[in-house]
Parts: sequence; structure tokens; C-alpha cells
Amino acid sequence: MKLQQIYARSVLLAIVLVLAAATAHAYVPVRISIKFILDANGNRPATGNLNTDAEINAEFDAGIDILRNVLSEFRIYRTELVDLSGVSQYYSAAANSTNRDNLRADAISNPTAYLWRTNAINVYINGGTSSAISKFPPDNDIILMNQWCGNTPSCILHEIGHSLNLLHTHEGGGADGCADTISDNSSWTRDDIALNNFGCVYAACTAAQQDKVDLVFNNVMSYHISEPQLRLSPCQMDRISTQGDSDRSWLLAKTPVYVNSGYTGLFQFGRFTAPYKTLQAAVDAGLAGKVLVLQNGYYTVSTAISDNTTIVTRSAPSTIDRGVLLYSLPVDLEKSAVPEVRRAVKAVQLEDKAARQVIKAAKQAAEGAATAAERASILADAEARKKQHEANAIQQLLNAVKFAGGKEKIAIQLELAQRYRDSGNYAEAVRFFSIVADSTKQEHLRERALYEANRAQERLDALQQQAAPSEQE
Ligand SMILES: [Zn+2]
Repeated sequence: MKLQQIYARSVLLAIVLVLAAATAHAYVPVRISIKFILDANGNRPATGNLNTDAEINAEFDAGIDILRNVLSEFRIYRTELVDLSGVSQYYSAAANSTNRDNLRADAISNPTAYLWRTNAINVYINGGTSSAISKFPPDNDIILMNQWCGNTPSCILHEIGHSLNLLHTHEGGGADGCADTISDNSSWTRDDIALNNFGCVYAACTAAQQDKVDLVFNNVMSYHISEPQLRLSPCQMDRISTQGDSDRSWLLAKTPVYVNSGYTGLFQFGRFTAPYKTLQAAVDAGLAGKVLVLQNGYYTVSTAISDNTTIVTRSAPSTIDRGVLLYSLPVDLEKSAVPEVRRAVKAVQLEDKAARQVIKAAKQAAEGAATAAERASILADAEARKKQHEANAIQQLLNAVKFAGGKEKIAIQLELAQRYRDSGNYAEAVRFFSIVADSTKQEHLRERALYEANRAQERLDALQQQAAPSEQE
């Protein structure tokens, strides 16, 4: 066995992880505090779209499903759902900017009375008969929701979209800051969108055109509510990632660490706008307690990722090739600083090469042999010479080990153990594997050496039993 194989043996078979739909715990939680403003009698409205816990829960569940389906790294995370008494002056307040801003100012000046949180988006739901109003960054910490927000299935997600800097698809004359959402108008039908953008009615458009129409018509941030609003475009995803990551210190319950193999920028901080280019860089920087967010792509890593690390993929599936290096020893002892080691190891290399050449030449000669007996004779002779070279190599390693120190010595002792094992000398294999286990400071190497020592001992015991038949026979 070549010394290089020490390294190969220490690298476990690559584990290929394909990350698609994120699992239950794999996400970056966006903290949302839900407060229901009660009337002067301590009641919620008896009717409405958001007057029961069940309705509010359903909005959250739908919003989480949408984020999962578009492969966002975020999940809306409800930190609390509480009834709020004592501020009934806001019970019927319409969801408009004036009321929202007054409520926010009052809440910030009296956080206890309003259960105001500085580490979440404060969503106040009341008995108003209007829709809902969010607040764009930088004061994106409040949403006032009345009972009749039309966005479905999750008006809460639509409003959080605004908090995370998303505009309506119809805003700004078709320019919502995203080039991948085509022109839209809040009153347009699906055919109107198709005609105005592509000059065809929807049914007559190409599949690619229809998809662009659907991306707007079924968009979370549109006003088209005849069908479920389930979609976000890649640009919209980028905008919420940029904003959410920017607000990470107060808004996110876990810190995302972004990795994007396609990133070409200069600065790599693990931020959405300055991601690491390689998974290894993210691992090296430390991931404890954080969420690793891989932009759709293929990644490799050579050091172990803790099983406790949360990993999500963003936009589309990602793949990780994980080779786990458990321990390492030198494999270039022919360059050792110790002359005796250097000489002996070079001699080992020559003996190994000679052993290989003997077998190769014998196989060629055997092909030209006249008889089966002659062929067997050639191969047996070669096998004997090969064994001699192997024995010579072991002798050279025994010479080298006398002069070697540190990791070089352990590498040679491990090599001796392996060569004794492979030549059937299990007694010496046990002895050297045990020496390695006792000598190394590397925990995984010790485990491995003890395992090998035990295996060799078992084979030694089996051989001795064969040699000495049991008394019952
Ligand atoms: Zn809106």
C-alpha cells in the first residue's frame, strides 16, 4: 500500500446532499408579533376576515407554504398572538398612513401599553373595515390590518412583502423595481396583461409568455385576487433577501450566511449582497447557530459541517459534495528532513515499484507460456519475488521508524501495521496498530487504529483456533 493511501482512506466516501424543498427547521425566521386591538369592552369583532385565531393561523400557514414553494430562505415566524386591551381608541382606526403613523408613534413612546417589540414587525389587527397598510423601510416595523384585506391566501405575507421593500406589480407605471415582472395594471384581466405586453390573448400566447403573465397575475404583490396569489419573481426574491438581510440584527431570529457560486464581486462577507463564493469559506468562517443559505448551485466542502447546521437552498436546488477529512498524516516522507528516513522511504518506493514490475512482467510472460504448468510456474516464481520485495520494503520501514519522529513516525508505524495486516502477519499488525493508537493525538486516528487492532486480533485468534483444534473434536 502506498503511503498516499493514508489520505485516501481518511476521506470517507463523498456524501451527496441534494437540497430541494427545505425541511421544517431549515429556514431564516422573520419575526412577526401579532397583536389584536380589542374594543373598550375587551372584544374582537364578531365578523371579519381576520377576527379569529383560526383565520390568522391560516394566513400564516399559507404564507409559509408560499415561501417554501418559491424556495425562499425566509419563513414568516409568529412570535406571539396576543389580545391587546387598553388602546381601544385604535379599535376602529382605518388602515391608512395617518393612523398607522400615529399608532406607531404612540407605541414607541409607550411600548408596555402597546406591547411594542423592537425585534419584530409589529402587526396590529383591529376592527376597522378597510384593508391593511404596511410601512416601507427604514421604519418597516409596523403593519396596521383591518378586517377586509383582499389579498389571498395570505394578506399578512403581502404586507410583509411591503415591509421587505416589495412594491405592487402595477406600481410605478409597470416599474416595480423588477424587470422580470411585466407591465401590470390593478384593473387588468389576465388577457389584458397578455395583450398589453405581448399582443396576444392569453390562450394564443406562447408557454413562455403565458408564464410571464401568470407570474404577474398570480403574484403575491398584485391586486389580482380572482385566483390565489402564490408567486414571487427572482427579482422580488432578491429584494426581500436584500432587505431582510439588511435588517437581520433586529428582524431575523437566525442569522443567514449566504453562499453563491455565481457571485463575481470582490467582497465576501456572507451577506446577501456580498456572499461567500465557496461553501468552504462559509464553513471556515463559522456557522454555529446560523443558517447556511446556498444560492442554487453545486458546492463542495472538505471539512465536516455540523449536523446541527441548518442548510437551505435558495431559488432552486443545490448540491453539496461532502468529503470528510477525519485525520491526516504526512505522505511525502521521501522528502523528510531526517536523512535516514528519507533514504529508507526512497528505498521503500523502489521495492514497491519492483514488486509491481515483477508481477506485470510475469503476466506478460505467462501469456506466451506453452503449457499451463509452465504458466503456473512463471506466476509462482513472480509471486515469491514479489513477496521478497514486500519483505524488503517492511525492513526499510523498520529502519526508517528508528529515526523518525512526530507525525512522520506515526505515519510509518501505521504503514507497517497496514503492510503486516495485508501480508497476513496479524500479530505484528496488532502490535503496530496499538502503537499508533497509543501515540497519536488525533482522536479519529486513534479510533481507526483501535478498530484495526481489534480486527487484526480477531483474525489472529481465528488462525490460532484453526491451528489448535478444540478439545470437543
Ligand atoms: Zn399592498
